[in-house]
Parts: sequence; structure tokens; C-alpha cells
Amino acid sequence: MNKHVLLTTTAVIRLFGCEKIEVTKLPPWDNERMKEVYGGKGAGLIRMADYLGLPVPPGFTIPVQFCEEYYANGKKLPRSLKREVRKMLKRIEKKMRRRFGDTKGWPLLLSVRSGARRSMPGMMNTVLNLGLNDETVQALARASGDPRFAYDSYRQYIAMYGEIVLEVPANLFTSALDHLLETRRIESESDLDADDLKALVEAFKNVVTDTGKVFPQDLFDQLMNAIVAVFDSWMCKRAVKYRSDIDRTISEDWYTAVSVMAMVFGNMDETSATGVAFSRNPSTGKRGLYGDWLPREQGEKVVAGTHETHAITEADRIARGSTKPSLETAMPKIYAQLRAHSDLLEHEDRDMQDMEFTVEQGKLWMLQHRKGKRTALAAIKVAVDMADEGLITEEEAVCRVDPASLDQLLHPILANPESMMNILTAGLAASPGAVSGEIVFNPEEAEKLASEGKKVILVRIETSPEDIGGMHAAEGILTARGGMTSHAAVVARGMGKPCVSAAKNMRINYADRSMMVGSFKMRAGSPITICGTTGKVFIGKVATINPELPEEYHIFMGWEKSFRQMRVYANAETTNDVRTALRFGAEGIGLARTEHMFFEGDRVMAVREMMLADDEEGRRKALAKLLPMQRADFKEIFEIMAGLPVTIRLLDAPLHEFLPNTEDKIATVAKNMGVELERLRRRAQELHESNPMLGFRGVRLSIVFPEIIEMQARAIFKAATEANFSTDKDKPVLLEIMVPLILSKGELDLVKGYIMETARAVEKETGIKLYFHIGAMIELPRAALLADKIAQTAEFLSFGTNDLTQATLGISRDDAGTFLPGYVKKDILPVDPFVTIDRDGVGKLIKMATELARVEWIRTDKIATIGVCGEHGGDQVSIEFFEEVGLDYVSCSPYRVPIARLAAAQATIGAIKGDQTK
Ligand code: PEP
Ligand code: MG
Repeated sequence: MNKHVLLTTTAVIRLFGCEKIEVTKLPPWDNERMKEVYGGKGAGLIRMADYLGLPVPPGFTIPVQFCEEYYANGKKLPRSLKREVRKMLKRIEKKMRRRFGDTKGWPLLLSVRSGARRSMPGMMNTVLNLGLNDETVQALARASGDPRFAYDSYRQYIAMYGEIVLEVPANLFTSALDHLLETRRIESESDLDADDLKALVEAFKNVVTDTGKVFPQDLFDQLMNAIVAVFDSWMCKRAVKYRSDIDRTISEDWYTAVSVMAMVFGNMDETSATGVAFSRNPSTGKRGLYGDWLPREQGEKVVAGTHETHAITEADRIARGSTKPSLETAMPKIYAQLRAHSDLLEHEDRDMQDMEFTVEQGKLWMLQHRKGKRTALAAIKVAVDMADEGLITEEEAVCRVDPASLDQLLHPILANPESMMNILTAGLAASPGAVSGEIVFNPEEAEKLASEGKKVILVRIETSPEDIGGMHAAEGILTARGGMTSHAAVVARGMGKPCVSAAKNMRINYADRSMMVGSFKMRAGSPITICGTTGKVFIGKVATINPELPEEYHIFMGWEKSFRQMRVYANAETTNDVRTALRFGAEGIGLARTEHMFFEGDRVMAVREMMLADDEEGRRKALAKLLPMQRADFKEIFEIMAGLPVTIRLLDAPLHEFLPNTEDKIATVAKNMGVELERLRRRAQELHESNPMLGFRGVRLSIVFPEIIEMQARAIFKAATEANFSTDKDKPVLLEIMVPLILSKGELDLVKGYIMETARAVEKETGIKLYFHIGAMIELPRAALLADKIAQTAEFLSFGTNDLTQATLGISRDDAGTFLPGYVKKDILPVDPFVTIDRDGVGKLIKMATELARVEWIRTDKIATIGVCGEHGGDQVSIEFFEEVGLDYVSCSPYRVPIARLAAAQATIGAIKGDQTK
């Protein structure tokens, strides 16, 4: 049972920077493999030092397997580790010509750094200046001729070691420092002299002993303890949280490597410095070194952001309006070397670099290199430039930009996305973009205030179609309830307006025109800022920035098409949205929700009349009002989309979204219809549903009231004939009529019959032959199971994955926000299934239905398409799945079209690569 588990048979502790090695004698560089074994940091150091011959302080990296073995043996160090570390240390001493623990000359000091396969910024531990004790500090003081420097390093080291290795609370050291400053009447740390610092060293040692811990004077113990502390930090609270909450793609089983390397001192004298540099500007992507440096300082000072840093290039110094000299002018030789190293690393990595460096007495040392994190704007520019420079291919360029990051370019964003200042609450990031405005609880008031030029945020418990005017007028929408495919989320996304839904702890009191968030009250008129990209809500106005589309964006988006297999359509129905979709490169309309066309103005009244009518005659009267409106809308869409497919879905109006829900609204409808208030109230009650999304909607409406289809089909056909006359002959209307919420072939046959009847009538009236397809939405598990049968009638199929998810999981899309996050947190579901397709369940249905339909179409020699038009059509991860299934197209809201295009291109490239390796 207690047998020591040995895992370290394959990976060895790897020395770097100790001797000149003939590169040809080394195995070829395999970046991914090296990162797996030695972590990102370790691999970078080994590569720079031994493969590229760059100046790296000598050191060694303990591979991740040692960490794994440490945990596998109940936190016992691998047996061979101590012996190996001693051996490695000797090599570093030789190379540096400094001895670890030297009490005469300059003692060798070490840094002990963590580094997993992928970076987890600031989550794990690092110990610097290791190797100082009561004796070596004196040697350092003598050798450097600078006792202040030596004792300052020592007291910082005791605090760091104390906090990280001995787990002494950091604030105890801060209190001891404050106490000393106070008793000696010294204003700031930087005014402490060597004697003060000596006293501080004693005070810090006392802090440690007071907690019952021991600061070891044995340096090898210090080193081994620091290595253990780095291993332990893999499972520290914040690292575990980072992996569970922030980056779930980092696996617990990866473990961390430990890199131990000689310290070099940027704070030694006037010819010393430290800095962080990028090979290109990480905000704009502009080519050339960019970054920050500080003369006579150690590296953490630049990273910590506590000091005003200097610009690296002269051009950047001027741009910043800084009077502090740039590295380019202050240390021109170092600058030239850094540039050369940066070029080499960029060339080798074929990607933008992020580098840490230190200059010790005029010698440049490279301490780290990795791929530079960048904004979407920079990512696009870097990808386009690098393809132009011949560094990467266009295909690689297309894969270099994270599709989701394009959102940064299409919407305003928070100027400081990390800031938590004045945060009020957070909810689902339902529709991206950040906006500010005053709180308005009432949609009519939102319209009124907006018409007066005020910026407002519409805050509702949840939204419904009658709020549409207010939603339009508002800058953004905040709701207390809802999920990722609730009304507010879907409509806001379609409009390209920021939306946060299911905000936590928010209770709205419409009557009082106020809301409580926890115990904090906010009234109508108070300014707030919502960020639909992160889900955060702030009190007051928070600074946002409005990104502009650069020239490179258009070049970049011109490349993706040649790699993409699936077409990308848009879900759009207003002419505004249709135009936006086209501008973003949509290749058709995959879903025009006709009920959304009734949201505006008086139209909703006519729909209500139609729904509440007691008999066919009443319904026909209301429908007659709607027909000309629909016809005009359709015609405009057909004209805008000439030559491209337009899929019009027949009415799918969830009753609860349309029925009047307040006394005065019922009264207005009664008046308009000329019926008694009581009668209408009764009818509204009859129609009230408690399971609205599974109720009397979709095709069911048309089955019970075929006159609705007749009106819609007539409007569509008339519009198509009119549009065909007004548009280019080479670009005819490509009409697809889609039937929602089908559960059997029989339903579709019946509806098809009605549509054909109207088509024949219109053909007869106009003398014009109509061309169109009739298809069905697969939104119910039964429809997926019977897709082969439905495919016999359907000329195309489209997965309505919002409803299909709802029906398959039995989770209502309107109120899932209340408990779904808990399901994800507890790992019952990997992600919100309304955001990313549930591969195991809904995905299985999609796969099966696609195969069933395709087999049927092949058997009967029918050319037909199959795609998806639920919100998942704009989700990067889901798109990968749709590519795998082999769908013909995805359709998503206009603002997601660029994201879907890029994600689909990357999915095709990935799929092709996957095929080749099979
Ligand atoms: C769907 O259910 O996926 C769909 C696209 O239809 P809607 O969201 O309008 O119900
Ligand atoms: Mg649906």
C-alpha cells in the first residue's frame, strides 16, 4: 500500500544554459511535447538557451512527472530528486562562477519558478533570491559593495519565503515594516538605509518565529522546501478555482514543472535594468518592439505595475508623452540585442512574442518567452502581416484569431474589462457589448426618454414582445430572469444590443420604480453600466471604448471563405437586421421569424386580435390587417437579399409572448375589436398557458387555424413576385418556406397542402410561376427520430436547437437561468446547453436525424439541404460539432455572422487536418 509510486522513468531533469551544445546533436524541437513535459516556462528557457543560443541564466527544469509522482505518493518527494538537484546545482555554480552558500565571494542566488503546460497567470508560486541566510547576506554585501542592496534583498526574500513556503500571512510582514517606518519616523520604504534594513531583517525573522515556524538557515533545505511549495501551489485554492471557473480546458492531471535558475540582478547598478517586451504591439498589432522597462530595478517591479515604467522604443516614449528615457536611447546596444533576439524568437515560433529580460551590469539576459496575448484587433493585424511577411500561410492566419474575440470589434467594450470597481451584480452574458444609461423600468418610458435624447437601460423582470419598442430605444437590456435563449437574450442579440439576463439577487418593484440588488436599492433614473460580454453590471457610468474595424479585418475576412465548407446564414427579419447581416457577410437568411415582424407599433394589436378572436371570421378580419404589412416587409427583404436564399418561417408565436397581460392592455384590445371586456378577459384566460414554450405555438397554430397560413403564404408569394420584377433578373428571389415545431410528417403534409393551394391561387391571379422550397424545423425529439419520414416531404431541414435543447432536456428556455449555472458548477452539465450544444444528448439527435434525412434524400435522388438556425449556430464550439456532423449551413444573429464564418472556417481546417492524420 505504501509502496512508492515511480513515474519518472521517462522524463529527466533538464539542464539549460550551462554549456554550448551543438544544435544538430539535439533532438529536433517539438514545442508541444516539450511543453507537456517541462511546462511552458521550462520549455521556453530550454529552447532559448540550448536551441537558439540566447543568453539565459543557467538553470534546470524539473519535469511535471516529478510533481505527479509527488502527489501520487501522498506528497512525498521523488527519491532521486535531492541527489539530482545537488548535481544540477554544481553545474550552475560552475557556469556562473558563483557558489551556492558562498560566504566569501558573491553567493549564487536562485529563482524557483512554477510553469504548467499552459500559463495560469499569477495562480502558482515563484520564489526569488533564494540562497540568502545570515552569512551569505554579509558576503553579498561585501561582494557588491552595497550593504543596502544586500539587506534589502534579504528582507524581501524572508517575506517571500515566509509567505509562500511557510504560509505566514503576508500582512504580518507589512505590519512589521509599518512599525519600523513609524518608530524610525521614515516616510517611505525607499528611504530605508542599510541599518534600517538590517533591523527589518530581524523583525521579519521574528514574525516567522512568532507564528511557530522556522526560517531555515540551511540553503539546500530552503531550495527543496521552495520546490515543494511550487508543487503544492498546483493544488492551491486559487489555482484549483482558476481551472474550475476560468479556464476549464486546463486539466488537473497536467501538473506543474519547476524551473530553478541563477538570479541575475537588474537592480545592481546604473548599467542594470529590467523589462517586459512584446515583438509587436499587443493592443494594435503594429510591428516592432513594444513594452516597458525600468532602470536599476528587479523584474517584478515592471510586472507588478506599481512603478511608472519607461517605454522601450523612442517612438513609443513620444507617443506616451513620457519624459523618462526609452531603452532605445538609454541603452542602445542592449536595445539592438533585444530586437535581434525578438526577431529570432518570432521567426522560430512564427508568432508574436512576450519576453521578460534583465540587464545585469551591461549584459542582457533573457528570462522568459512565450506567445504574446493580444486583443482581437492586434490578433487580426498580426495574422495578416505575418502572412504577408511569409512567416505563416493564409490558412494558419485564419486559425490565429479566436472567433469569439471578434465580438470585441463589433461592439463597444469596457475600457478596463478586469475592473470590479462599483460592481452591482452579475448575470448571464446574454448579448455582447458594454453600455451605460439611466435605469428605466418601463418600455414606453424608455421610448419617450430616448426620443428626448437620453441614454437608457431597460431593466425588466423579463421581456416580452410588447417591450420591443423600449428594447429598441434602450442602449441595453437588463433582466432579473431568463436564460441564454430567453426572449430578451434572443431579441437583444438580433438587434446587436448588449444584454445581461438572470442578474443575481435582483428584485424589481415596477410600482415603486425601483430595484433591490441584495440590500442595495436603485431607483429609476440612476445611471448604470451593463456589460453583456462579461455579464457584469456596474453602478454609474463606466468608461467604454468603441473599436473601429481596421483595413486588415476586411482582408482577413476575405481569406476565411476559401477554407470554409459550411455556409453562414443569418437569423434576421427586420430590414435593418437583414442589411447588417449582409454587411457582415451573411450568405442568406436562414431564419426570418415572422412573429418578430409583429413586434413593432400597432402590429402587435392586430396579432392579439387575431389570437383572441372567437371564430374564423374574427381571425380573418385581423389577418387582413396583417397581410399588407407582411407583404411589404417580405418584399423589402427579398430585394435586399436578391440572389441569396431567404428562409421565411411561418408564424411561431408563443402565446404568452403575445397575449395582453395587463388589465388596460386587455381593455385596449377589447375596444379595438369591438367586443365586451369581460368576454375578452375570459378568452385571454382560456388561452393562458402555464407551460408556454410547449403549448399552442408553432405549426400547431396553423393546424388549428389554417387561415393564418393562407395569409402568410399569400403575403410571401405576392411579395416574391413583386420583388422578382424589381430585382436583377440574374438574382432571383430564392424562397424557402419553413414550418416550425413539426412533430410528424402528417403535419408537414397538411401545411404543405395549404401552402400549395395558395401558391396555385397566386400563380393564377398573377400569371407568374412561383419557385420555392418547403422545409421543416427539427425542434422536437420526435421530429429528430422521424427525420427520414419528414424528409420525404421536406425540401430542406433546419435544426431549431433552442427548442430542441429545451424539449430534449425538459428545461424551459425562459427560466433556466435560475438553476442551470448550478448544474454547470457541479459538473452535471459541462456547459450551459442553451449556449453550447449538448453533444451527448441533443447532439446525438442531430447526428441521427441528419443521417436519416440524408439517406432518404440519397435514396430518392432529392437535392436538399440541412442546417441549424438555433442560437448554437453562432457558437464556436457548437459550430465545430455541426461541421463534424456535416451540416450544410449554420444560421445565427447578424452580429454573430463574422464569428460563425471564422469558426466554421477553422472547423473545416481542423477537420481536414484530422482526416490527414487518420
Ligand atoms: C429554435 O427553437 O432553435 C429556433 C430557432 O426557433 P425560436 O428560437 O424562434 O423558437
Ligand atoms: Mg423554435
